[in-house]
This record gives sequence, structure tokens and C-alpha cells, in this order.
Amino acid sequence: MEANQLNYEDDNEKDDDKDYEAGSEEEDTQFNDLHFPFAHRRYCARYIYANFKLTYKGDHYKKLFWRAARSSNIFDFKTCMEEIDLINPGAKNWLLDIHPQHWSRYAYGLFIRCDHVTNNMTETFNSMLNTHIVVSYLELLKFIKRMVMRKFNDRNEGCNSWSLVLPPRVYVKILKHSRESRTLKMITTWNMKYELIGASGGYAVKLREYNCTCGSLQVSGILCCHAIAAISYYCGKEAVKDKLTQFVHINLTKSAYMQTYVGMIHLIPDQKRWPEVP
Ligand SMILES: [Zn+2]
Repeated sequence: MEANQLNYEDDNEKDDDKDYEAGSEEEDTQFNDLHFPFAHRRYCARYIYANFKLTYKGDHYKKLFWRAARSSNIFDFKTCMEEIDLINPGAKNWLLDIHPQHWSRYAYGLFIRCDHVTNNMTETFNSMLNTHIVVSYLELLKFIKRMVMRKFNDRNEGCNSWSLVLPPRVYVKILKHSRESRTLKMITTWNMKYELIGASGGYAVKLREYNCTCGSLQVSGILCCHAIAAISYYCGKEAVKDKLTQFVHINLTKSAYMQTYVGMIHLIPDQKRWPEVP
């Protein structure tokens, strides 16, 4: 199984905008290539859709857009694009003007193991800053520092109480996928390769390569229902409960979570208690 080193996602998602100034994207790309050579740029699908629906209105576009954004494999993505093309070729071209690596799961970089298609995390952060933005830069930085100090402490204390080696949110997803896996039929081959057949078709799982043709396993790092069925067969039903966590990507484990918050934001006294600078 893969056991990558922790990778830190550069949270530089940019809200996409069709009116984005010509040339500025290239400048951003050059800046990122220089300072964040391993960063992948994602645009917020919610913002892309907000611009898309200015021209292409209706529930049918909405459903197809979100299906395309959340497609974790190219085949599902292409199906959505073909359905949009049947309604209006212009809508398909509008979307494909934005490279899918910026807005559709199937084309995301895999080493991050994060399948978010929206920028809600940054929106939440911005809303937390609230009125502090307009006071002064110093007040804003003080607010952010204290907020992060509290957050680090809350997260550290929170995960110390976990009894599992997986964060609760990851565990809940595994349980859900585990229930779904029970409906699948399996054909085994060799070398930890399996074909899983369900209501939405057949999927090939290569456990040694950490790969399922549904794509979800690779992009999220969380076991899909197909992988769980394969692992269940490989490890045996008795042992699978203990073994499943070993197949979850290391980025999604409790130890990775704790590593994220292992640092400390040091105390800074109030400005009037700062030493005088000669
Ligand atoms: Zn799968």
C-alpha cells in the first residue's frame, strides 16, 4: 500500500470567474510555480456554476454541472459533458474552456487525497474574520493568531479523545461504504485484483496499486465500497474490521490529523507591553 509522506495542501484555491483578467492567471501560475512548485490549483465549483448559470439556466444544467464536478473518473465526466452537449454545445464548450483539473474530481492531483470541489473552507474563514478586517491589519492579525491558537488547542484535545485510529468523519464514510459493499458481486482474479459488479456497473479494483476504476479511492484516500469488498475477501470477513484502517491512506489517519496540529502558536503580549526598539 502507499504510505506517502504527509503532503501539505496549499490552500490557494481561487474563485473562478469568467471575467478573470487575461494574463493574470498566467502571472498567478508563474508565482505559484516559483513559490509552491508542488501545489495544484483548484477553482471553487460553486463560483464556476454561479457564472455558468448566468447564461445557461435551468435544473437540467445544474444537475449535470454538479455531476461533472463530482465525477471521480473520466468516464462519468465525459457522460455528463455529452449530455450537456446534447442540450447545448455552447454550454459544454463554456465549461471545457476551464481545464477540468481545476474543477472536477477526476482530474485533481492525487497526492493531496482531498476531494473537495468547493471553496467553503475559505468562505468560512472569511466569515469568521467578520468585522476585524476593517479595524487595522494589526487587529486583524491578532484576531487570526488567537483564533488559530484556540483552534489548535481544541483540535489537539478533541483528537486525544478518539478511540479509533481514524478521524470520526473518515470512519463514518467507511461505515457507509461498507454497507454499500454488501450489495456487490465479485469476481476474483489474481495478484489482489478484483472486479466488483453493482447497480451502476462493473469496477476493477487493484489493491496493490491503490486503484479502483470508480476513481474515488485514489482522489479521496478513503476506501470506496468496491475496495472494501475486495479487502473483505482478501483479509477474510473475520479480520476485515481490523484490517480496513490499514488500507486508508496515511493522510486521512489520526496520526496525520495530529501532525497537522502538533505546532504551537507562541504567545505574544499586548502591544503596550512590547519592548522598546532602539
Ligand atoms: Zn471504487
